[in-house]
Amino acid sequence: MGLGVKPGDDFYTYANGAWLKANPVPAKETRWGSFNELRDFNIKAVQSILNEAAANKNTKAGSVEKRVGDFYAAAMDSAAIDKLGYSPIKADLERIKTITDVNGILNEVAYLRTSGAGAPMFGFYVGQDRKNVENMVPQLSQGGTTLPDRDYYLKDDARSTKIQEAYKNYVTTLFTLTGVDNATAQKNAETIFNLEKKMAAAQMARVEMRDPYKTYNKFAVADFSKTTPNMDWKMLLSKMKVTGQDTVLVNSPKFFTELNGLLTSTPVTDWQTYLQWNVLKSAAPYLSADFANANFAYTQALTGQKVQTPRWQRMSQLTDGTIGELLGQLYVAKHFKPEAKARMDEMIANLIKAYEIRIKGLDWMSAETKEKALAKLHAFRPKVGYPNKWETYDGLTISRDAFFQNVRNAGEWGYTKMVNQLGKPVDRERWGMTPPTVNAYYNPVMNEIVFPAGILQFPFFDPNADDAVNYGGIGAVIGHEISHGFDDSGSQYDKDGTLRNWWTAEDLTKFKAKAAALAAQYDAYTVLDTIHVNGKLTLGENIGDLGGLSAAYEAFKMTKQGKSNKKIDGFTPDQRFFLAWAQVWRANTLPETAAQLILTDSHSPGQYRTIGAPVNMDAWYKAFNVKPGDKLYKKPEDRIRIW
Ligand SMILES: [Zn+2]
Repeated sequence: MGLGVKPGDDFYTYANGAWLKANPVPAKETRWGSFNELRDFNIKAVQSILNEAAANKNTKAGSVEKRVGDFYAAAMDSAAIDKLGYSPIKADLERIKTITDVNGILNEVAYLRTSGAGAPMFGFYVGQDRKNVENMVPQLSQGGTTLPDRDYYLKDDARSTKIQEAYKNYVTTLFTLTGVDNATAQKNAETIFNLEKKMAAAQMARVEMRDPYKTYNKFAVADFSKTTPNMDWKMLLSKMKVTGQDTVLVNSPKFFTELNGLLTSTPVTDWQTYLQWNVLKSAAPYLSADFANANFAYTQALTGQKVQTPRWQRMSQLTDGTIGELLGQLYVAKHFKPEAKARMDEMIANLIKAYEIRIKGLDWMSAETKEKALAKLHAFRPKVGYPNKWETYDGLTISRDAFFQNVRNAGEWGYTKMVNQLGKPVDRERWGMTPPTVNAYYNPVMNEIVFPAGILQFPFFDPNADDAVNYGGIGAVIGHEISHGFDDSGSQYDKDGTLRNWWTAEDLTKFKAKAAALAAQYDAYTVLDTIHVNGKLTLGENIGDLGGLSAAYEAFKMTKQGKSNKKIDGFTPDQRFFLAWAQVWRANTLPETAAQLILTDSHSPGQYRTIGAPVNMDAWYKAFNVKPGDKLYKKPEDRIRIW
């Protein structure tokens, strides 16, 4: 802690000062905090499972251990991977060279996608129709770019131009590594940057993308084709293995009309270069060391990371990201205890109860809307630890000596699995995160809150810690995920997950005013020099924190410790509750990474998550005796209470 400062002046330093000083960002990382410490612990646990599985040659063919072990062993065989150079993608690059017209370009776009070799031009996925949630529908979205946000193409300040240069260098390097001469490779980089810049200009900004109505545009396939005459979607979708579908959902129709224009205004040779680039960039992390190193040099410019993450760590993460529900079975057998699940179930029930009390007590909401909010609250489905039904990856071929092909096979398998959901009932047992993941999520169309085994550990959760610590940690995380169902975006979905208004007009106006006040509070937080938090981009997360911490506090006060005044280590139960919250969010972040996250991350930086919610809670003022004149002090009438 940093007991030398007053909690009311700088609660973040008060709770974390000594830790922050003693824990600089390690050279192989971009930030270092509680999340990272637990992630580090988990990835080492995963590595030891993978090492064991890879070393055991006696596992049965087709068994979980065998498939996981083979994938990892192949991924770690850097000598074999280096020997191959770029030969695994040679055929793709050659084929693209033979394209002669726009049709050929579009055929290739479909082929790359279905074969797991790349995702050029636009985004595509199959998911629930949010106005008709029992239906799985094809969904098209803006895309086609490489840099993490459209702003990187469109801005010309020093930070952005430096990254643009690093990006062009990256493109140049990858082309030269495939035998292209330097002058041509540089020209290719300019071509790609300029083409992607046009796509970036056609994209909606992230804040706009938060509006679930604006991004809901349903088209009959034939009608959508009329808006993009150069793209016959009936044909294109069938090439993308999408059959029997007469409608599509489009998040940004304007993007597709612009793309349609670009298709013919851009020379076919430029599109060839662009498609080759898509193959190259998708493959680079899985090719020989010179490709992987070029990829890291680019990452470095974006994030400031000093040295490359060790291969074992990258490949452990890749195994988790590729066959995570095979690996996850081995992970939970070792690292997840039934007691943890029982305790989580109990805490979730307590949080739901606390939330119910809070909704009933809201002074700004009518009885009519409260009834709907309560119905939604009681319809939440929690998932804890790992799936009831594991993904089996049937039909996915994994070989011990073909790393690149394994990655491609997994990409193709995943794509096929995705499109095969069309026309079938929604699979409600599916998980969007793997068991070792240190995170949690709310999914509005399923109205579910999901907590993977990975996050159910210290410092979020510790069965041996006192309630203050668990409620300030995982309790607030549970409350946060519940609150996503009631944030600026999630609150537009009803108890069945359908995008349908359940608010009275008057209540909605009041909610929006409160949300705007919270956005203004976060807008005022600066990260480095002129860069400040984007209150609108982070609004959902900030409502999540405020609602979540408030509900967790309410639930904590129902426990025996919450009702007592017994100090531990000199701190009262309430103090320990808020300190646990603050210590979950402690982190050191490299400045380059901080600058990137402000543009791309919908979460506020940890230092502001620490104080953003407590400064609106009377209990925090009482716990730390925060008074007028203290830097973080807000007058009682200015404190924002939403949920
Ligand atoms: Zn969240």
